[in-house]
Amino acid sequence: MISLDDIKRVFRGHIALNEPLAKYTSMRVGGPADYYLEPADKEDVIAIVKYFRSSGFPFLMLGRGSNLLISDEGFRGAVINLEEGLANVSLNGDLVIAEAGAKMTKFVDFCVQHEFAGVEMLAGIPGTMGGAVVMNAGAHGGEVSNYLVDVEVLRGSELQRVSKEHAGFSYRRSKFEGDVVLSASFKLPKGDKNELMKKRSEYLHQRNMAQPTNMPNSGSMFKNPQGNYAAKLIEQAGLKGKRVGDAQISEKHANFIINHGNAKASDVMTLIDLAQRTVYQNTGLQLELEVKLVGFQEEMNEKHNG
Ligand SMILES: Cc1cc2nc3c(=O)[nH]c(=O)nc-3n(C[C@H](O)[C@H](O)[C@H](O)COP(=O)(O)OP(=O)(O)OC[C@H]3O[C@@H](n4cnc5c(N)ncnc54)[C@H](O)[C@@H]3O)c2cc1C
Repeated sequence: MISLDDIKRVFRGHIALNEPLAKYTSMRVGGPADYYLEPADKEDVIAIVKYFRSSGFPFLMLGRGSNLLISDEGFRGAVINLEEGLANVSLNGDLVIAEAGAKMTKFVDFCVQHEFAGVEMLAGIPGTMGGAVVMNAGAHGGEVSNYLVDVEVLRGSELQRVSKEHAGFSYRRSKFEGDVVLSASFKLPKGDKNELMKKRSEYLHQRNMAQPTNMPNSGSMFKNPQGNYAAKLIEQAGLKGKRVGDAQISEKHANFIINHGNAKASDVMTLIDLAQRTVYQNTGLQLELEVKLVGFQEEMNEKHNG
């Protein structure tokens, strides 16, 4: 185990010990991390990640926790969040550069204000640029990878610039899992600001109508199987509204699980199990988790992630 003094020798940012992670996830569930770190800047991220890697100390990159289910036992190791130290969005010539801790809403707003089109449909995705790149987040037919040029990552202990062609983007996947994403650059077509603002509002409105936005949740729990919809399959299985403890399959959108206040990760996991089992029995289709599991036993990850 690495001590606080060890960390302080290489790290300048904010450190919290035994920090409950529920408050950093959109589902509002999850036990504590041994260390919770907010690096001061890019050099700080690089220094601490290199140190952890060379010591074999486990760490987890956490964005806004909007695509994670963290176990009630939490995470043994360090959680690193870039929202304080790496949250800038800027212009470099005709490229938009977004640091990994920048919120998607900030990135989209920057693009709209600078009259860049092609990302306005991503406005309601409640994550950071780092999480969006790793997940290849998308909505309304657009994906974060569409106008992406390259991504700056720490791969192992080496700083690399990975071009889009080598990023392995597909539906909610990339080859950046296991890397530390530092920033991404985009080359976007020009658009009309008023038109872009109007489109963004329409997309946000559609989202608010379709999703249970008033309750903590992790967005879509499952990926849509090819040619089908996870929500439809769960609804047809008769599971809409099914509740375990304070966790419930949303009445509004069956691919969402909502937290009524005191849900445990284990309650959410019981609903995940139930949905996967029932849909499989009914249709032979295996629902694959879109949400990532953290702090669960390895066999759980394999079982649920397919
Ligand atoms: C209400 C709601 C609506 C949603 N709608 C959509 C939608 O329309 N489309 C969609 O695609 N998703 C959607 N999501 C899911 C989620 O917002 C996206 O997957 C988002 O991109 C996750 O970003 P995050 O910063 O929260 O990442 P997290 O959930 O914190 O992390 C996700 C993964 O990325 C990794 N990660 C995060 N930052 C870094 C980094 N800097 N370097 C390396 N790895 C990193 C994490 O370790 C984890 O594996 C929704 C979620 C909610 C709650």
